[in-house]
Amino acid sequence: MSPSLLLRRALPPWLAFALLAAACVTAVILGHDGRRAAQVAMLALPLLLWLRWPVERPRWRRVRAVAVSAGIALFLVDGAVRAWLASQYQATPDSSLVLAAAANTTSREIAEYLSSQAPAMALALGLLLAGLTLTVLAVHAATRGSATLSRPGRIAIVALLALCAVGYLSKPWRRHHPLVFWPAWTQEVAELRHAWSDQQGQRDQLMRNARAASPTVTAAGPSTVVLVLTDSVNRDNMSLYGYTRSTTPQLAALAREESGRLLTLRHAWSVEAGTLASLSGLFSFGERDEDDPAGRAQHLLALARSAGYKIWWMSNHDDVAVDQQHARLADEVEMINRQPGRSSASLDGELLDCLEEALVDPAPRKLVVVHLLGAHPHYRLRMPAGDNPFDDDSDAVDKGMIRAGHPLWLRESRQDYDAAIRYHDGVVAETLRLTRQHAPDGGRGAWMFLSDHGQEVGHSIAHAGHSPGTAAGYRIPTLMWRTGAAFDATTAQRPFRADWAAWTLADLLQLRWTGMHDERNVLDPRYAWEAPRLKAPVARFDQ
Ligand SMILES: [Zn+2]
Repeated sequence: MSPSLLLRRALPPWLAFALLAAACVTAVILGHDGRRAAQVAMLALPLLLWLRWPVERPRWRRVRAVAVSAGIALFLVDGAVRAWLASQYQATPDSSLVLAAAANTTSREIAEYLSSQAPAMALALGLLLAGLTLTVLAVHAATRGSATLSRPGRIAIVALLALCAVGYLSKPWRRHHPLVFWPAWTQEVAELRHAWSDQQGQRDQLMRNARAASPTVTAAGPSTVVLVLTDSVNRDNMSLYGYTRSTTPQLAALAREESGRLLTLRHAWSVEAGTLASLSGLFSFGERDEDDPAGRAQHLLALARSAGYKIWWMSNHDDVAVDQQHARLADEVEMINRQPGRSSASLDGELLDCLEEALVDPAPRKLVVVHLLGAHPHYRLRMPAGDNPFDDDSDAVDKGMIRAGHPLWLRESRQDYDAAIRYHDGVVAETLRLTRQHAPDGGRGAWMFLSDHGQEVGHSIAHAGHSPGTAAGYRIPTLMWRTGAAFDATTAQRPFRADWAAWTLADLLQLRWTGMHDERNVLDPRYAWEAPRLKAPVARFDQ
């Protein structure tokens, strides 16, 4: 006798039925909260009721077994996906964070993700197959035996079905049935991707808005400004900000060397936990969300360009939305990660040659945006293989995480994350050295470095990744350097928000136009801080 037959015989019909019902309820509760869970449970209930309904003819019994198995499997997978998204990103599948990520993900990124998560994926696939097999076996077991049902039993089932019909007739309920929800979700992702695929009209509008504001450069002479925009770097993991692991020795050395000319903003925050939303705010002076039409909004690159700056955008990202919304406003666009046939992840250091080429370009006014992958998951891919200085012995950081009860996998993630930041330190420091070396004679040079958002790697919860729900998702580094006079020492203690960064960049670019908000420029004496409203609880922004 085969094991599956044995299992089917050993499982009494009532127990098989109870197990299926319990699995459905668990999946629904894991995937939805409160009233929604009750509504979705009503949508799943007819499948279970069908199993209790007497069916005589063998052919119909087979049809029922297949349909009910598939239906229940759908609810189980739906619940598992939703629970996974909630635990990893505190987000539902139809949130803008998840929709944007899905629309923006390339096949290369999917391959990168799967290969870096191979053991976890194999486990998940194994569990999925086991779950589906058990579902099919349980459906068979639940319908075994004589097909009879008492009259009160039939009445009860018909009454319950009538109740479920309410759920199927109501559109807001029905929407959450996996068979309705996921096709609609796929459609939404495709529409978003299509909307991003050509934003030439939006960019033309931004250029018109910029020209209408007639921006000018206030100082004579050449000017070079480099903006280094990184990804997923939490300042709490930089020794420059007091972290005990030596993750940023090169930036720390530059800070000593340059003293007052290199400014470290101690209390810098992003106001968004994802790249797209963060960059939209940053380049629009805090005015635009990621999918707002251009309207009358300004874009820093459009303003700089219409004031006479030549603009470069060089990137290690392969990202349709960033490319369309920002990069293509530049004169020169270089996406080193989009070269066909490249199978391995490219490292941020590969952008340094591009940066130097731009810095020696004869244009008198230059703005160079360098978009790094930084410490974006998966951390191990953000540094040369085998280059982890923190994975040997247990140090103070590791001991602190053990005391906080964090599991081994999270401590290892932290080691990888810190090693990625240490590799990144060398790249960022080199961008500053290059900017300094190529600062124009008789003109001004400036450099700004910040991260689009932070990262949670066991800082407050047992999670590694983007984190809209905790402060670590928003704690970013922000550094500035410029030729000429030193920065005012008190500026370092001012709280800073990334969606206002363009006001400060406009200062470094020496731009002026009508309608400026100098009180949002952290370098301006009139700076007036306003605390942003974050999705995570933050008691104080000055620490
Ligand atoms: Zn990001």
